[in-house]
Amino acid sequence: MRSVTYLDNNATTQLAPEVLDVMVPLLRDGYGNPSSIHELGRNAAKVLEEARGRVATLAGCREEEILFTSCGTESIHTAIQSALAIDPDKRHIVTTAVEHSATIRLCEHLAQRGYEITSLPVDSSGRLDLEQLAAAIRPDTALVTLLWANNETGVLFPIPEIAEIVKRKKTLLHVDAVQAFGKLPLALGETDIPFLSASGHKIHAAKGVAALYINRRVKFVPLLRGSQENGRRGGTQNLASIAGFGVAADLARQHINNRQILEWRNAFEENMLSVIPGCRVNGDRTNRLANTSNLSFEGVESEGALILLDKKGLCCSAGSACTSGSIHPSHVLKAMGFSNERARASLRFSFGRYNSQGDLARACEVIPSVIEKLRALAPAGSPVIRAGK
Ligand code: PLP
Repeated sequence: MRSVTYLDNNATTQLAPEVLDVMVPLLRDGYGNPSSIHELGRNAAKVLEEARGRVATLAGCREEEILFTSCGTESIHTAIQSALAIDPDKRHIVTTAVEHSATIRLCEHLAQRGYEITSLPVDSSGRLDLEQLAAAIRPDTALVTLLWANNETGVLFPIPEIAEIVKRKKTLLHVDAVQAFGKLPLALGETDIPFLSASGHKIHAAKGVAALYINRRVKFVPLLRGSQENGRRGGTQNLASIAGFGVAADLARQHINNRQILEWRNAFEENMLSVIPGCRVNGDRTNRLANTSNLSFEGVESEGALILLDKKGLCCSAGSACTSGSIHPSHVLKAMGFSNERARASLRFSFGRYNSQGDLARACEVIPSVIEKLRALAPAGSPVIRAGK
């Protein structure tokens, strides 16, 4: 495979070599079922519990509060469905307009089944109004479910304050921390968060392994019934991937205060803003993940930019999704009040710890030339590119 400059770490991350090293022998030799009582099974159970301990340490909670699942989406669905099952008379959910599709699609489905969904707006920086959040919670609200870090802009919601509000209102909270887990220090044992979702493939573990934190003081109703995971999730555990997730969690903890990624992202952004006229940062620049930069380039279609950047070996994401041949501007940027043009002119660059100074230099070399080329190709009458930020 040709070498690429990978700036799409919010989509997924490469496996850490240490993760692969623990997974391969388990896939080859460690095939015991953790529920079996023979030696191979007992060894597998030990591996499973060690991994649970490692993930719990990163989350700052007890081992028994970690449930292994197959993906972040499953964790989110399990938490939401569990909260609804605890009190079937409560049929109202509070969420936000900028959630991941895993939450949005489930809420749409629940709305069709008679649940009432309040989707809170955000301001032009992607921030939530906490007074509006408090006012939206009613006696029949079963759950508040929202992101910690937005996958498109990296903007952080103030979860500790939100957790206090939701607790005061005697409602359950689920936090989609799929992008925040392993990037922000967590001490869940010291918070009042009932449910929190995380996913392995965002922190250099394999795809298809994830976790749901379930506060031990909270009632839980399983989504997949069976005997595994203490009766909380049926299905034989994906042992090799779970062991890899444990190692990835240890590595994330070791790197959590490393400022290298923040320095690369900031240097990248400063370069883009000073070199490319009509380039703007999308979202709150203060309360944001250290690795994410969502930029709009005035007068440029992000799909075209993505294709040209891909040809030059640079991987990033567009602020829009192409479905059935038509381009939909990102719902996150639209919720921030952006015009279709600005939303369609946006690209997300997300750094990870396997990037290098060379990747930064390559991005700073390639992106301005691609934007210039696309602007030169734009038909007469396209929006005028003004100099400045
Ligand atoms: N939530 C957020 C914020 C995400 O970014 C993602 C994945 O991109 C998910 C949920 C879904 O996670 P998974 O791909 O593990 O199902």
